[in-house]
Amino acid sequence: MIVFDLLCADGHRFEGWFGSAGEFTRQRDRKLLSCPTCSSPKVSRVPSATRANLGATEPKKPSQPVKTPEMEGKDPFAIAQMLYSRMLDELLTKSEDVGKEFPAEARKIFYEESPARAIRGQATGEEHQELLDEGIPVARLPVPPTDKLN
Ligand SMILES: [Zn+2]
Repeated sequence: MIVFDLLCADGHRFEGWFGSAGEFTRQRDRKLLSCPTCSSPKVSRVPSATRANLGATEPKKPSQPVKTPEMEGKDPFAIAQMLYSRMLDELLTKSEDVGKEFPAEARKIFYEESPARAIRGQATGEEHQELLDEGIPVARLPVPPTDKLN
């Protein structure tokens, strides 16, 4: 919850509680807000007096992965592992396995000789570097994909 100090057109000052900063704007635009003293719908926020009942204004947090119940009590490293493994699963189920044809296929897609799609497969370190040198966006997985397949 956030508490805003509000001011009506007649200069009455009062407090409004909102779920978020956007909630104030939404309620005001829908004319759901009115001054408790004179019922004027012309309500504006008093700048600089914003505060939250948790003791801080809305913090600008860096974006964080959403926590789910299964993450409760786990250390950040375990959570990172889990998210990584999920990302890997996603990648593997949504990409086409082209095996050792990977470097050739990645090139064909890049030069639009093959339909654009997500592919996975094997490439040697040298092949990988060649692809990068050509400006083809490929990523290396530290875990061999075959481990996750069966
Ligand atoms: Zn008023």
